[in-house]
Amino acid sequence: MKNEQAGLYVHIPFCASKCGYCSFYSIKSINLIPAFLSALNREMEFYKNLFTSFDTIYIGGGTPSLLTAQQLSEISMAINKFYRIDDKAEITIEVNPGDVSLEYFQLLRSLGINRVNIGIQSFDDHILKFLGRRHTAKDGIAAIDCAKEADFTNVGIDLIYGVHHQDINLWKRTLQGALSFTPEHISCYQLSLDIKTPLFKKYTTDKIMLPQENEQIKFFNTTSEELENAGYIHYEVSNFARSDDLKSKHNMKYWQHAPYLGLGPAAHSFLENRRWWNKPSVNNYLEEIAQNKMPVENEEKLSAEQLKLEALFLGLRTKAGIDLERYKTRYGVDLLADKKTIIESLIKNKLVEVKDGFLRPTRSGMAVADSLALI
Ligand code: SF4
Repeated sequence: MKNEQAGLYVHIPFCASKCGYCSFYSIKSINLIPAFLSALNREMEFYKNLFTSFDTIYIGGGTPSLLTAQQLSEISMAINKFYRIDDKAEITIEVNPGDVSLEYFQLLRSLGINRVNIGIQSFDDHILKFLGRRHTAKDGIAAIDCAKEADFTNVGIDLIYGVHHQDINLWKRTLQGALSFTPEHISCYQLSLDIKTPLFKKYTTDKIMLPQENEQIKFFNTTSEELENAGYIHYEVSNFARSDDLKSKHNMKYWQHAPYLGLGPAAHSFLENRRWWNKPSVNNYLEEIAQNKMPVENEEKLSAEQLKLEALFLGLRTKAGIDLERYKTRYGVDLLADKKTIIESLIKNKLVEVKDGFLRPTRSGMAVADSLALI
């Protein structure tokens, strides 16, 4: 089915080095970038009749800023060749502070990219080193300055908390450092470690600890208070925007169950009740596409019950919450009646509230959003 308001995600599966905590798919063989770009072009063509138009594009990874302006321009031309892009589309690229310069940001602007997300993570060199990042605090500051100087009016920065040796005061200083740049968007992620990551092994063998649950909630509440006091909207568990207009329109599609197409190895797509994902392997991706095959690893068709549960899970991660009328129209269920007892108990415990036709999490509810969804 053709859809007019879908989001496009392009996964650039290359990184110059692997950060110790990262479980995203990427490889270091940057010599494969030209072959990957040809295959990506072909993959876009495969989908040109299923998705015709997009109003958000997100180039993520991996490390998109390893690509030259010429290579990004190739991607941009292919997108515009196969799809119609809304005039007001939000077009985001993720960049690594160590890779960028004023000139690079100016080139990004000339390609029509209107939003940058900079992977700052911390303004503390010890923490950056511990995380295995290849940039320094100084690189992070320079990257934000250059993005602004290049006239980007929508700059987002990513930060991580809950790192070993990072107490709440150090984290507050990180937040204050971030606020001094008045970025349009701030994402604050709690460090969580997949069992396969090098940092997970370090945590288990060196017997260093991730914060316990009560401390995690303290970090979460401090983050929310500090940034809301500075005028930001805490619109999703990990995300803050300076105004409604500056919320990530692309990421909102994931939380609102809107359709999206994901291209590149390991990318996920969603349309109506179908989700499918590509194999997490560049070699496999190149081979399959060379044989004119979709590089899809698997797909699932979500039942009405699964769709309902997902909408609940995703909606309760956002400050806006769940539009009860929309939920009823879309899933055929009166949520307040269906989950009456548990919702009353959550309201009593000040974890959710019903207001203006929405079921929304309070700040305390957002802090435990994953378990709220188990209702
Ligand atoms: S740069 Fe990003 S994608 Fe690459 S290893 Fe580090 S965290 Fe993962």
